[in-house]
Amino acid sequence: MCYAIPGKIEAIAEKTVVVEYFGEKRKAYNELDDLSVGDYVYAQGGFVIQKIPQDEAESILSVWKETFFDLQEVDLKLSRLDLNQESVSKECLRILDNAAEGRKLSREDILVLIKEKNKSALELLFKVANFLRQKHHKNSCCVHGIIEISNYCCADCAYCGISRSNKNVTRYRMSQKEILEAARQAIEEHGFKTLLLQSGEDSGYSIEELAEIVRQIKANWPALIFISFGEVGLDNLELLYTAGARGLLLRFETSNPKLYKQATGGKDLSSRIAHLKKAYALGYLIITGSLIGLPGQSEEDLLNDIFLAKELHAEMYSFGPFISHPQTPFTGNPSASTETMLKVIALARIIDSAHAKILVTTALETINPDARREALLAGANSVMLNATPLKYRPLYNLYPLRAHEKESIEVQIKDTIGLLMSLGRSPTDLSV
Ligand code: SAM
Repeated sequence: MCYAIPGKIEAIAEKTVVVEYFGEKRKAYNELDDLSVGDYVYAQGGFVIQKIPQDEAESILSVWKETFFDLQEVDLKLSRLDLNQESVSKECLRILDNAAEGRKLSREDILVLIKEKNKSALELLFKVANFLRQKHHKNSCCVHGIIEISNYCCADCAYCGISRSNKNVTRYRMSQKEILEAARQAIEEHGFKTLLLQSGEDSGYSIEELAEIVRQIKANWPALIFISFGEVGLDNLELLYTAGARGLLLRFETSNPKLYKQATGGKDLSSRIAHLKKAYALGYLIITGSLIGLPGQSEEDLLNDIFLAKELHAEMYSFGPFISHPQTPFTGNPSASTETMLKVIALARIIDSAHAKILVTTALETINPDARREALLAGANSVMLNATPLKYRPLYNLYPLRAHEKESIEVQIKDTIGLLMSLGRSPTDLSV
């Protein structure tokens, strides 16, 4: 199975190319040397990542053609919207009607939605978000792979199971050879077109080593590489970009500077924000968001989190529930509920309808095994599958009982594709 559909180059203007998919045209940034009009390519996240032979492309397209339009039909049916709901308050209906029509909501309106408790109103909120997702992004759903390369961390976050203060963690650091082999398998054998490398803030790798790993992956296999190594330093972001990294996953964790300090052992939020701003200026695709349910977090904070992610030019929003880890200072605090998580996802979709890719996080699936389906029907359109070697997965113990921890990548792919097909989604990155 492949997570991208080949597109045909229709026009080239310097580094910008127009790619055509079954009649739809998208723009992408090209970094390949030998591209001509008429060539077939894979594009991800707005970047051309690989040229493919015409016969190969045409055979993949002929398989996709019917399925592609059939899936769109199913998605369209599932995202129909009916705003005639008697059990929903007039105020809520007014706000949701404005949202569905694409009119900008005031802060007060969004707060009303975030405080809403009525089940029918919430169902309608999720439907509006799903309607907007379909309207702007059609049925595409990104399926990215993640490799967790090390669980060493010099940070001391009060929520995180792999923080430096947790002495009960068995630490691991994958060697360059292991990382390259895991990347090869993910790209070559399992078809991932975008791969995220993640670790704690681990000074055990020099920045040159990390850059070399990115360089080697780029030199050997066609994929878009995202990194998530924490705060690597502003200059090092540039080094990693030059090596070939094109996406940065860095959550700001909370938009509330006081809460951030409490949650991170005294760190300053401004440093994370500076990384995110610099990364955007360098050309990275930004994946960011926050932890929902941190002790002391208010509903206003949640709203500010969504606005901050937007302000930071999130290409993809990543909001996950805080889950209490027994060996951390935040142990015993309750997790955010699925309902709160779905509200945040739906509101992110409403606030940034046309642009946002919204991730269903593993943490959300951990608190609710059906959450992937529920979130995809509440505005989300992106999933990340765990391609870390099985032997290391239990050691990347951010919180207990992580979803999919014991599932092989083959099983994750099969289940994901099954779910996406049942919802009429195509596992593609078309909405570039
Ligand atoms: N070191 C990198 C960083 O700082 O962004 C990436 C690794 S960090 C462990 C990845 C994410 O895990 C964090 O951004 C945080 O939101 C999430 N996380 C850590 N502990 C968690 C917990 N107890 N519950 C839910 N998510 C958690």
